[in-house]
Amino acid sequence: MVIVVIIIVNTVPMEKNPDQNKDKLLEKRAELLKSEIKAKETELSDLQNQCKHLNKEIKMDDKNIAMWECIDCGKRLKYPSQNELKKWIERIRN
Ligand SMILES: [Zn+2]
Repeated sequence: MVIVVIIIVNTVPMEKNPDQNKDKLLEKRAELLKSEIKAKETELSDLQNQCKHLNKEIKMDDKNIAMWECIDCGKRLKYPSQNELKKWIERIRN
């Protein structure tokens, strides 16, 4: 009798909105992916903090912002000075 009641309770919302279970599944998957991304970002940040950033170059990011970037760990370090930027532009042109 208890089992029958549980089945009825569980199936009622499904009949009202058949996509609800699918939405919940999608939401859970998205939450899982977000937490995985956050964990990986922390892992990358830890790794970048161990790096001494000895090899660096000026690189543009996807927003076309030029910054010094570590070749080894990929960390964005600092903005180049006017002089560094000028030299970099000249080197790209040639
Ligand atoms: Zn580095």
